[in-house]
Amino acid sequence: MTPTPFRVLDRLREGRPPRPDEVRAAVAGAADGSWSDAQLGAFLMAVAIHGLDAEAIGVLTAAMLESGESWDLAADFPTLTDKHSTGGVADSVSLILGPLLASCGVPVVMLTGRGLGHTMGTSDKLEAVPGLTLEHERPAVARLLAEQGLAILTPTPALAPADRRLYALRDQTATIRSIPLITGSILSKKLATGAAGLVFDVKTGNGAFLADPDEAGRLAEKLVETCRALGRPATALLTDMSQPLGAWAGHSAELRAAFEALEGRGEPDLMAVTLALAGEMAALVGQPLGEDDLERAIADGRAREKLVRWAEAQGGDPAWLASPRFELAPVEAVIEAPRAGGLARVDTRHLGLLLAEAGGGRVGPEPIDLGVALRTRARLGQRIERGDELCRLHLRRDDPALVARVAACYEIADEAEAPVLIGRRVA
Ligand code: URA
Repeated sequence: MTPTPFRVLDRLREGRPPRPDEVRAAVAGAADGSWSDAQLGAFLMAVAIHGLDAEAIGVLTAAMLESGESWDLAADFPTLTDKHSTGGVADSVSLILGPLLASCGVPVVMLTGRGLGHTMGTSDKLEAVPGLTLEHERPAVARLLAEQGLAILTPTPALAPADRRLYALRDQTATIRSIPLITGSILSKKLATGAAGLVFDVKTGNGAFLADPDEAGRLAEKLVETCRALGRPATALLTDMSQPLGAWAGHSAELRAAFEALEGRGEPDLMAVTLALAGEMAALVGQPLGEDDLERAIADGRAREKLVRWAEAQGGDPAWLASPRFELAPVEAVIEAPRAGGLARVDTRHLGLLLAEAGGGRVGPEPIDLGVALRTRARLGQRIERGDELCRLHLRRDDPALVARVAACYEIADEAEAPVLIGRRVA
């Protein structure tokens, strides 16, 4: 018998972790409306405080997944893969990786998200392509995969509807930062499309959703373990987000960085992370690709051509794609090093929040200013002379106070170390 919300909450009040049948009841209640917001809020807090064991995380994920459609695309595309990044400030990997793998014959379905807090979302960045649409139903996605080997999407309302309600309540109840809840939320959407294998790019460092490397490592383990338990192969890489990845942060600017990367002009750190994740994805579905294969697809123009053909197939304006123009906000502010030394710390999360405050992120109902951007010049561990350019802001209007706050995000010291870009692999 399904336990009532009151019985579940009465037991959880005693400080016991939720049991699998209670988790299933709460997710069903979120999906069919039989649990109130107050009851779900109390349940979420109990999970955030007491955690869930591996079985209960599997039940949570499966129940959230089953609250909506399951597309099982791997039935038609057995080597289909997807990648999920836990997000950061400047992360155009998805925009490069999808076309790159598709151009090498490894099909990719990529379910992307909107920006949250200090992070920017891939689907928001793609708004810079006029006409492009990201919400597609299964038949259109199957057509895209058959014709282009690539579909980049946002979840339709029919995919994991329980997550929509639970996520909105987590946002209001300070229960976003809970590894079991994050695992269920991410996987319920990613598994719904039915990719044959999933690779996770779990960011660590001060610009990451989970800054602490141990906490990020635990999330990577839970994501991989839960996927496996539900019959889907998965691996994860822990990658650095203690400074922006690549040279640009900003919506239009990151889209341009992706085009440049596919023309062979990618920043070394951005390319290293992209190639490592692409290699993981290809190997996971039994179509191994070496860095040489991937670099060849960039050098001979196949990967860039794939980006353009895919974008046209999802409604992107062919005239714009033939000669893309990327907006940059017109007011430039250069931030220079106040002293010589090594770049020892970048407050990456704060940089993301400041970009959002300048209009270049999701802070309220207003549309994102796609042209607001930050160009990074100095990298952690690098030797800097007084007056060297650390970064450059592209703003819509003059804002000396904001520029000063951005400058305060950079710390120069006598000693400085470069972070490890690609850390632990979880398999
Ligand atoms: N992204 C999601 O989709 N869900 C979370 O809980 C966190 C990040």
